[in-house]
Amino acid sequence: MLTLNENFLHLQANYLFADIAHRVADFQQTHPDVRLIRLGIGDVTRPLAPAVIEALHRAVDEQARAESFRGYGPEQGYQFLREAIAANDYHARGIEVGADEIFINDGAKSDTGNFTDILGRDNTVLVTDPVYPVYVDSNTMFGRSIGFAPCTVDNGFVPSLPSVDAPAPSLIYLCYPNNPTGTTLSTCELQRWVDYALSHSSLILYDSAYEAYIASADVPHSIYEIPGARRCAVEFRSFSKTAGFTGLRCGYTVVPSEVEVVSSTGRRVRLADLWRRRQSTKFNGTPYIVQRAAEAVYSPEGREQVRSTISYYMENARIMRDALTALGIKVYGGKDAPYLWVPAPEGYDSWGFFNRLLHEAHVVTTPGVGFGPSGEGFIRLTAFGRREDCTEAMERIARCKTAVR
Ligand code: PLP
Repeated sequence: MLTLNENFLHLQANYLFADIAHRVADFQQTHPDVRLIRLGIGDVTRPLAPAVIEALHRAVDEQARAESFRGYGPEQGYQFLREAIAANDYHARGIEVGADEIFINDGAKSDTGNFTDILGRDNTVLVTDPVYPVYVDSNTMFGRSIGFAPCTVDNGFVPSLPSVDAPAPSLIYLCYPNNPTGTTLSTCELQRWVDYALSHSSLILYDSAYEAYIASADVPHSIYEIPGARRCAVEFRSFSKTAGFTGLRCGYTVVPSEVEVVSSTGRRVRLADLWRRRQSTKFNGTPYIVQRAAEAVYSPEGREQVRSTISYYMENARIMRDALTALGIKVYGGKDAPYLWVPAPEGYDSWGFFNRLLHEAHVVTTPGVGFGPSGEGFIRLTAFGRREDCTEAMERIARCKTAVR
């Protein structure tokens, strides 16, 4: 008889974005003339960099000629892209990561979700709360037990290490700069997690999808800046928010050769070898033209163009931070990340604040509680919108002060 992976039945229905869409549609139906401004979107809005577009065109033309046509590529990704990543994202910062430790993918979501295929079902998991939901859902699909480390105003959004008498989690997800709070960990704070992982034989799954937004000097760009991390951490990166690839799809995972797990028979197994084996079975590579496009992000023009788009978004973030701060609101994030984490006024929960901003300022946000219980009482704003919209949204919020006081 056919059976199910019943763990899928334990997934929480993800109502967040459907709920938002519902409320927005209801409002728009009764207020057809109102122009809503959407500051909840997690997608980018600026077009791809010209250098990326040119590389795409060139690669498409190569595919048109028999002598330069490419079919299946290497499952781990083309050498030209892996070398560009190793040189620019790691060696340029003095970080040791080899091109052969880099696995090109079709975006970070796939690998953050799939990576635990190669790990036992009985591993326990720790995620921060609030959290990017993929970590929770993909482990729920395996039936793993998941613990939450709250990130709140009280702990400065720095998750506490598990207490000494608690069983150590075997898998620890850290996402910095963080989605949704927009906050970061300092080198010192990250070192504590690496030390913890090393002393408890835990594995850190480090998602740095927003690395390109880091502006502060004391914020690590990669977990491999931290001594010991090469033995206990896997890192996920993406071209999505770095270079507007949310539609093109390209990212990469770093699995250092030192990360090993002992099998039940006592054999030391390199995770990189198992991951390569998994990928060569279940993944047939990112399109050649997309990898050429990603390579162009590292060309001198590409770097400058991508930087300028990131600056555009971060200027949006600054405008929103300053405007809200001027209204007396304490805003978190938005300095090293394109997300602002904004506390609701006294007497409002996340949805209450969301509703007031929708009805009074005609601005759509994301209720923080949708990312986990510790997100209650917050909304998330993203800086990925158009400049005019960010400015106007702040003017509208300032005009309806009752919505924020
Ligand atoms: N990781 C985090 C923290 C994200 O916020 C996102 C996208 O929003 C991703 C990973 C996935 O990005 P992609 O699959 O587009 O590379």
